[in-house]
Amino acid sequence: MARVAVSRRNVLRWAGAAVAAGAAVGGGEAVADAKPARWARLRAHLRGELLLPGDNGYDTARLPFNSLFDHHRPAAIARCVRPADVQRCLEEARRSDIRVAARGGGHSYAAYSTPHDGLVVDLARMAGVEVRPDGTAVVGAGARLGEVYSALTAAGRCLPLGNCQSVGIAGFTLGGGLGWTQRKYGLACDRLRAARMVTVDSRVVTASPDREPELFWALRGGGGGNFGVVTSFEFATMPIPEVLTVFRLRFPAGSAADVLGGWQPWSVALPDEVSTSCVAMPNGAVDVFGCGIGPERLVLGELARLLAAVGVDAPIEHVEVDYPTATSYMTGGQPIRNAFRASSRIADRWHDPAAVADTVRGMDGTLLIVGALGGAIDRRTPTDTAYPHRGAPTSFEPFGTVGDLPPEQVTREVDQVQTALARLVGTGTYINYLDPSQEDWAQTAYRHNLRRLRAVARRYDPDRVLRFPQAVR
Ligand SMILES: Cc1cc2nc3c(=O)[nH]c(=O)nc-3n(C[C@H](O)[C@H](O)[C@H](O)COP(=O)(O)OP(=O)(O)OC[C@H]3O[C@@H](n4cnc5c(N)ncnc54)[C@H](O)[C@@H]3O)c2cc1C
Repeated sequence: MARVAVSRRNVLRWAGAAVAAGAAVGGGEAVADAKPARWARLRAHLRGELLLPGDNGYDTARLPFNSLFDHHRPAAIARCVRPADVQRCLEEARRSDIRVAARGGGHSYAAYSTPHDGLVVDLARMAGVEVRPDGTAVVGAGARLGEVYSALTAAGRCLPLGNCQSVGIAGFTLGGGLGWTQRKYGLACDRLRAARMVTVDSRVVTASPDREPELFWALRGGGGGNFGVVTSFEFATMPIPEVLTVFRLRFPAGSAADVLGGWQPWSVALPDEVSTSCVAMPNGAVDVFGCGIGPERLVLGELARLLAAVGVDAPIEHVEVDYPTATSYMTGGQPIRNAFRASSRIADRWHDPAAVADTVRGMDGTLLIVGALGGAIDRRTPTDTAYPHRGAPTSFEPFGTVGDLPPEQVTREVDQVQTALARLVGTGTYINYLDPSQEDWAQTAYRHNLRRLRAVARRYDPDRVLRFPQAVR
């Protein structure tokens, strides 16, 4: 078994970041907006700024992370600095019957936080992180994961780690929050203790186990953009672990059937301390990566078992580091804004790794990111929170980078993989890997929790003020 120590410069990058290079900027259709009275009215009541088309900064501020949706031109962007600004925005949206959406980190796969011709409630300036002596963290809903993690680390605390620093804590948590340490610490939403939210009728409410409990249930996995606009989250954090071991194995072209065949049973038998994902490429190469909370001896034994199960050799790149260093390895590969299509399937079971590997074989722009679930995620039942996939072993994310390819081709590829996976592994869908062309998304993302979520949506947004194509209705 060959071993290669990873140098500090050779930062492990999240698969999405590795494939997300290359931006495609779409054209934009002009929105005829004569800055009507409503915007003057709203501007007068905001402490934050209101950007309209033509204003300085509007053309940059409007851009979503997924540049496939650069043609979305909001009618206005409100840079809110306090909950009262959010209240004024929702009042105006209701009064004028315009589309309105909250924006945290702007990483929605379908750019739902950038409604074309609508009002963006941009929370980026409400991004404070306060860590209290009892370990509770109060996090502004506009904070990005990187800001949250560095403030927590400075206080010796942590939360389950997402893969990418520029993702917003809001969308990430509201949809569940999968990541690098999920098998040990669970989902980000599992650490949520309370949330402050502005309702569509502009009330400020606190959702917690004791107050607005149905809303609190729905905010943990029910998906961003539904129910109201969260202005801050309160999390129960954990002390940072002393040492972590980050690893990567790169298996050669043509090995995908063997690697997935060995990885699948291995990943479900791992101790909770080890979280792992892999990326199957169109040429049959596979990158396996992950991290163990603990020293390298914990992880190297497990990786030796993986190599034995796979039957194909690959050097083990690994490094044992303290938590801040591990965080920079794991979340350090910052993807740039780019055009992509992605989709999701959550497995109920999977027995045919060769067929799974074949779903992306020969594709031009699409690969398959496969993540081990289980561990602490399964310490809750499928109805404890709105996230329904407790007990599922694996998450699959077909990920297509547009680059120089026609977007329709990449959409077709991703759709083909997603459809094939539904037959092979099951139909579950992770709401944060939301695919605007997936027809069965509502039933498969929320499963047995859909009916209850619909009741919460009807109660908190009866007039569908927060409407978007994949809203809970
Ligand atoms: C590069 C990249 C890496 C990713 N890595 C991971 C990962 O490791 N794990 C994971 O689970 N997911 C990951 N995702 C998916 C990510 O969690 C979702 O795209 C998430 O919705 C993004 O949240 P955001 O706040 O950045 O996005 P936004 O586009 O701002 O928001 C997403 C949705 O939530 C709504 N929303 C935003 N703020 C609020 C609020 N305050 N109150 C109510 N609704 C709100 C928006 O209106 C929109 O509908 C990744 C995505 C990308 C693009």
